[in-house]
Amino acid sequence: MVDSTAKTRTAFGYDAHRFGGSDPVMLAGVAVHYSNGVEATSDGDVPAHALADAVLGIAALGDIGQHFPASNPASQNADSMDMLERCAGLVRNAGWAVTHCDVTVVAEDVRVAPHRAAMRINIARALQIDVEAVSVKATSTDGMGWIGAGEGIAAYAVATGLLIE
Ligand SMILES: [Zn+2]
Repeated sequence: MVDSTAKTRTAFGYDAHRFGGSDPVMLAGVAVHYSNGVEATSDGDVPAHALADAVLGIAALGDIGQHFPASNPASQNADSMDMLERCAGLVRNAGWAVTHCDVTVVAEDVRVAPHRAAMRINIARALQIDVEAVSVKATSTDGMGWIGAGEGIAAYAVATGLLIE
């Protein structure tokens, strides 16, 4: 039997939303101007949602859909960075410290680079980690598929946690 009590865990998260409505597009708590906003129950912040799922994965605590159901009136227009902060708190209560995260935003022409520094600061604050331990990246799909067609935006994230109890 493989030992499942290892002191370090890496976990993954993914999120995607369709563009629609009016701008801004929220990226890790930063309001980015774009031709559209994002269709979502909450503020539709894809890097925040991908990160929140990655963070929950450290302690195998399910996903954000489970903790913040769309059917709950409190989820309407919810602040996703607040959700991320609460997920980090749940993981901490389970005995894990988040030590690092890395998120990649995938979109055809939402400009991420000008907002990278502010996104890192917001994520670091929500996770209570150093900004140096927060990586934010961006890419496109080179015009291919639904992202390339400008239908929506996606984000992938990994987070690392250290067992503290
Ligand atoms: Zn989402």
